Amino acid sequence: MDKLTSLLKRRGFIYQGSEIYGGLGGTWDYGPLGVELKNKLKQSWWKKFVQQRSNIYGIDASILMNKDVWVATGHVDNFSDPLVECSKCKKRFRVDQIEGSICPECEGELGDVRQFNMMFKTQVGSVEDSASTSYLRPETAQGIFVNFKNIIDSFHPEIPFGMAQIGKAFRNEITPRDFLFRAREFEQMEVEYFVTPESWEENFETWRKDIIEWLRSVGLTLDRLHEKEVDGDELAHYSKRTIDFEYDYPFGRKELLGLAYRTDFDLSRHAKMSGVNLEYFDQVNNDHFIPHVIEPSFGVDRLVLALLLDAYHEEDVAGESRVVMRLDKSIVPIQIAILPLMKKDGMSEYAKNIFKKLSNNFVCHYDETASIGKRYRRQDEIGTPYAITVDYDSLEDNTVTVRERDTMVQKRIPVDELQGYFEEQYKFLN
Ligand SMILES: [Zn+2]
Repeated sequence: MDKLTSLLKRRGFIYQGSEIYGGLGGTWDYGPLGVELKNKLKQSWWKKFVQQRSNIYGIDASILMNKDVWVATGHVDNFSDPLVECSKCKKRFRVDQIEGSICPECEGELGDVRQFNMMFKTQVGSVEDSASTSYLRPETAQGIFVNFKNIIDSFHPEIPFGMAQIGKAFRNEITPRDFLFRAREFEQMEVEYFVTPESWEENFETWRKDIIEWLRSVGLTLDRLHEKEVDGDELAHYSKRTIDFEYDYPFGRKELLGLAYRTDFDLSRHAKMSGVNLEYFDQVNNDHFIPHVIEPSFGVDRLVLALLLDAYHEEDVAGESRVVMRLDKSIVPIQIAILPLMKKDGMSEYAKNIFKKLSNNFVCHYDETASIGKRYRRQDEIGTPYAITVDYDSLEDNTVTVRERDTMVQKRIPVDELQGYFEEQYKFLN
């Protein structure tokens, strides 16, 4: 894990948030390669669950919402962690991470257990009173529920149908930890899938399969994925069934995403609190009812971390160690590296010309610094599947070598065939 995090920083995937000021706990900044990877992952999800479905509607709701949203859902009263505060250094700790009554930092006396609300509170407008209170949303789901009626009115969908959103959420974790895993600001990809009360079980099963199919398509190692049936006390009071999909992280088996049957809890609460009718009218059966909900909820950053952990490999190549990021081709930050063997004799210009052409359709990276061996290693480290090298022969016969990341095999390919060759390699993306 330490090797991975230092590589991610060194090579421009992920940096500590506000690092030059000593950082801000639980925040992370994505660099140029990290944001490419994360965007590709989100695009893949959107394609699978929105674009390729005729009955799922995408939205992008505001992060700031009317505070009554969070009263209705119970977040204002109940979204809290029990914590204890040290009487000496004033640090706070989660009760489940502490043994005994002594502060692990300064050995001071710990106080009584108190509830600590995890929502970030803020003020909307210039007057600081309770009416202006708002919160940074602790989940994207509610942005969907409050727009339920808008989708009904605009599109008249037939049940079952879904609404999807990708966006930021915020939780004031008492002790953020494990790198991207438990951060205070993070991104979610969620679907609320509206079904009839009678059909929740079959829809739940379909989602369960679809989730795994998509995780496979982005290259997650399924051996490290485990389904945990949430039961008893751990099950949220409104949920009749929840499966946590857990992943074997280096710091333990932890939740990667969840699939929950939320009954009609959210819509019913919002209907009651807002006074707005949120029933669905089933024309076929002439029936009014509040739909029930199946919710697959993905943590983007947790998935990014899992995919990077899966991809990281160290191997021995002819007595030298090689670090290679075996990321799936669908999510690699750079698709093609373009490398002139040397800067001289027109090789740079030749290679730049190739960059100009291919970068219309692919994410390319041009690099002419350091030896060719070093540049191959750099591309291996960031997971680039293909590297094109322009050499002296290229200038004579208009062919280049294309080197594959995983096999390190090099092929000679005519320059005019490059476009077609890479279209073939990346055709599953279209
Ligand atoms: Zn202390």
